[in-house]
Amino acid sequence: MDAHAALAPAVATHCPYCALQCGMMLQETASGWTVGARDFPTNKGGLCRKGWTSAEVLAAPGRLTTPLLRDSKAGALRPAGWDEALDFVVAGMVRAQAAHGRDAVALFGGGGLTNEKAYLLGKFARKALRTANIDYNGRFCMASAAVAGAKAFGIDRGLPFPLADIPGAEAVLIAGGNPAETMPPIMQYFDAQREAGGRLIVVDPRRSETAKRASLHLQVTPGTDLALAHGMLHIAVRDRLIDRDFIEARTTGFEEARRLVASWWPDRVERVTGVPARLVAQAAHIMGEAATAMVLSGRGAEQQVSGVDNVLGFINLILALGKAGKPHCGYGCLTGQGNGQGGREHGQKADQLPGYRKIEDAADRAAVASVWDMAPADLPRAGKPAVELLAALGGEIKALLVFGSNLVVSAPDNGGLTARLQKLDLLVVADLFLSETAALADVVLPVAQWAEEEGTMTNLEGRVLLRRQAKALPDGVRTDTAILAGLAERLGVAGFSAEPAVIFEEMARASAGGTADYGGVSWARVAAGEALFWPCPDASHPGTLRMFQDSFGTTDGRARFHAVAYRGPAEPPDAAYPLVLTTGRVLAHYQTGTQTKRVPDLLAASPEAFVEIHPDTARDIGVADGAMLRLVTRRGEAVLKARYSRDIRFDTVFVPFHWAAANLLTNAAVDPVSRIPEFKVCAARAEIFATGA
Ligand code: SF4
Repeated sequence: MDAHAALAPAVATHCPYCALQCGMMLQETASGWTVGARDFPTNKGGLCRKGWTSAEVLAAPGRLTTPLLRDSKAGALRPAGWDEALDFVVAGMVRAQAAHGRDAVALFGGGGLTNEKAYLLGKFARKALRTANIDYNGRFCMASAAVAGAKAFGIDRGLPFPLADIPGAEAVLIAGGNPAETMPPIMQYFDAQREAGGRLIVVDPRRSETAKRASLHLQVTPGTDLALAHGMLHIAVRDRLIDRDFIEARTTGFEEARRLVASWWPDRVERVTGVPARLVAQAAHIMGEAATAMVLSGRGAEQQVSGVDNVLGFINLILALGKAGKPHCGYGCLTGQGNGQGGREHGQKADQLPGYRKIEDAADRAAVASVWDMAPADLPRAGKPAVELLAALGGEIKALLVFGSNLVVSAPDNGGLTARLQKLDLLVVADLFLSETAALADVVLPVAQWAEEEGTMTNLEGRVLLRRQAKALPDGVRTDTAILAGLAERLGVAGFSAEPAVIFEEMARASAGGTADYGGVSWARVAAGEALFWPCPDASHPGTLRMFQDSFGTTDGRARFHAVAYRGPAEPPDAAYPLVLTTGRVLAHYQTGTQTKRVPDLLAASPEAFVEIHPDTARDIGVADGAMLRLVTRRGEAVLKARYSRDIRFDTVFVPFHWAAANLLTNAAVDPVSRIPEFKVCAARAEIFATGA
């Protein structure tokens, strides 16, 4: 048979990885599953190498197909039946709650889970276990942008406009994002923007692939983004680039923000940020003189102890310039994880209920409790956000269930986490493969992967889309929703369907009237391919392509300036640790690499962690290109291969976070509001490494 002969019709679905959710065709052929191009609005037929190779994960060796159970902490994992495994989990949870209270059992979810899974996980925590403690790895990602968007505009939707608006923006500033490597097909929009005469400004400590394509690169010192934003606003005010009519008509709080930035003179900004004053002024003029402009933030600006304030600083700029609530204008967040948007809307956050409702708000509690058929008073209150939750493992928290997350690699300052996970009375991990976290578990539950089940995702634009099932569920594997339904049944709690379409319809009801209103989004409409952007309050509503055109989402309809004082990073460099460590992604891998490290091409392209360092800095410590270097922070050390690059600042080193080494080093200090850890800045020392040292 021809190796390429199709065994079944191709299925139109989406990539399993990032928030661009590129459309693709998936087909089984005589030689295996293959990915084909599909013309979808976000990617227009393009895919990155992760997407093109994603079908290889469907047949990757090491796939879990039976539950694994550890009878005693000293014992090894052994295969078990599903009933035995689920009974074991329930017995452990009941025991922990009986002895230590309801909050002794915690759940940890993921920003890659479908909307239905995120919703069901939140419902399972609050209704079946009645624990307050549920959070997710999205806390490590987009939390600062979400808080800032909600504070300034009243509603957080990552991009409040479609990607299609980007080419029409005369100026775009990307603060701490590198989409050319993290989501390459999106570069079509930025390329079109520049081809139309637009200017692209990139703020990044590294001359990243995105920065190389920019009109202007501001090579900022990590952790000083807010000073840069203040400096740009200072110049905009000084040089009369601001839009007084817009400020008057559509905002509040400008005077306080203006007073605050009055002292951010260009030479002060240069001293703090390392960006030459003339480039700060040039950037302010590019943004201020453009008829249309937008700011897009990425994790670089957001994963800091000032993450919320950094974003608010850039929002201040965009508001002062009158570039919000209009076509081809605005602030948006380049959401990273596959369902980073939907995953933060439907209740797996410690302080939220479905529809972006607040768990401490009486009306929100009553609305959701009525859908869940329970008394509002029985809903737990807000629980611990991710970093605090992980710090309580083995202490107040005795049992943890993990879905869609690989904490041992992704959590900040992860050196002590393994010991805390091992101290738990019960650790349950649902995963495709025996990840670093699953290897520590008492119970491992093998789950379906993207093409083996169906579910909805909400992409970085707020567009709800359907990932279709292309492949049968492997024998021995269950979906996350079936696992949660099975656990709820054993706990004697009704109301847990395992069917994505049923869960979605319930989720839409629970969100109706909330901030992220899916009330009019039905499974049938999504399946029919309607381009539905939330809010979509009723069945006849077409969805909201562009938000804030007439009014912002605040109570008075006005956007808010915030006078946020610059604080700097939690751990600036000093004599003992003179460098700044920053972390990020490489093109070949997604998150902790549980999937992508199993694709031979991707692993060959990027087989191990490394440290990117400026050659002059490396030579000062006597480390050759390709030699091993010891990187030390106050939390730990890692021995990594030095990779020379003239694209990074002299005072900064970069380590990709797809391997555990990066987070042995990072600082778990968190933003006081979003509780996002400061992955992007900590003080570090680089030393020559000799074998046996
Ligand atoms: Fe598209 Fe992201 Fe998948 Fe790459 S990883 S193909 S950018 S969805």
